[in-house]
Amino acid sequence: MTVPILQVLGLKKYYPLSSTPFWGTKSFVHAVDDVSFELHRGETLSLVGESGCGKSTVGRSILGLSRLTAGQIFLDGTRIDAFSQSAWRPLRRRMQFVFQDPFSSLNPRMRVGDILAEPLRNFSLATNSSEIDAKVGKLLETVSLPKDAGSRWPHEFSGGQRQRIGIARALATNPDVIVCDEAVSALDVSVKAQIINLLQDLQAELGVALLFISHDLAVVEHLTHRVAVMYLGKIVELGSKRDVFAAPRHPYTEALMSAVPVPKVGDQRRRIVLNGDIPSPINPPTGCYFHTRCPHAFDRCVRVEPALKEVTPGRLAACHLNDESPQAGASL
Ligand code: SF4
Repeated sequence: MTVPILQVLGLKKYYPLSSTPFWGTKSFVHAVDDVSFELHRGETLSLVGESGCGKSTVGRSILGLSRLTAGQIFLDGTRIDAFSQSAWRPLRRRMQFVFQDPFSSLNPRMRVGDILAEPLRNFSLATNSSEIDAKVGKLLETVSLPKDAGSRWPHEFSGGQRQRIGIARALATNPDVIVCDEAVSALDVSVKAQIINLLQDLQAELGVALLFISHDLAVVEHLTHRVAVMYLGKIVELGSKRDVFAAPRHPYTEALMSAVPVPKVGDQRRRIVLNGDIPSPINPPTGCYFHTRCPHAFDRCVRVEPALKEVTPGRLAACHLNDESPQAGASL
């Protein structure tokens, strides 16, 4: 069996709040709570869920931008979560990031050529200026930007072109993994489609693994191989795109999928509107975190947290309804 290029085990990230007046104890925001998954070479895994579900915190933790509260992260079989800042440096070559906002993620005081040359210099990936120029030219060509783009400033480009520059910068170090955090959210529909196609082409050509963080399920459906659905800091369902989109095994996934526009005339999806707000991650509900909004909740859901377990080969879900005797008759 091949070693995953990225493996996350039991990742927890809690942010402390100020001390309470009594006993000096602290309360915590449970941003990410026991998240585990694997990402393989050449694969796209999407982390999806509503805003605030913890998906971006997972991305930042993987990239060493946020210290873990607990858990382990392995890159190509090597545990990296306990690495010092200096030990992290070479890893940054292997794991890159494409930011959400192409308007603010590029230094406005640097020409595009210098933006792309910076990682080549930082990681000694080119020995002299002519080699740097050649590699910058190749990167621009890879993301379908004109050669003269290198001598221009970021503000001279449209949003889609700037995101291409961001992707070129991520590719400069020939990474194994790229974390794309809402990388196409700020783009309009046609530009979004171009960037998605570009990412797919690059993945097919270069074999890079993508961790695609998004709340946009229509985009995810087009791009991803597997999908992990997060709710209140936890993965509630994980499986292949085909399985999860066609037949969700968790009521939250079902509600999210019901809101995805159906491309074919005649296809129908019954829209499921969830009542209530997402509970506070400072004081999450007992039992199943989703029970306060779940249309199928029953008494056991309030008391017992469902484990994330395999429901079909390669498919995980955390819902009592997947058990043999879910007590489905006992509605709240
Ligand atoms: Fe709904 Fe209960 Fe399943 Fe949670 S465990 S998703 S509350 S049915």
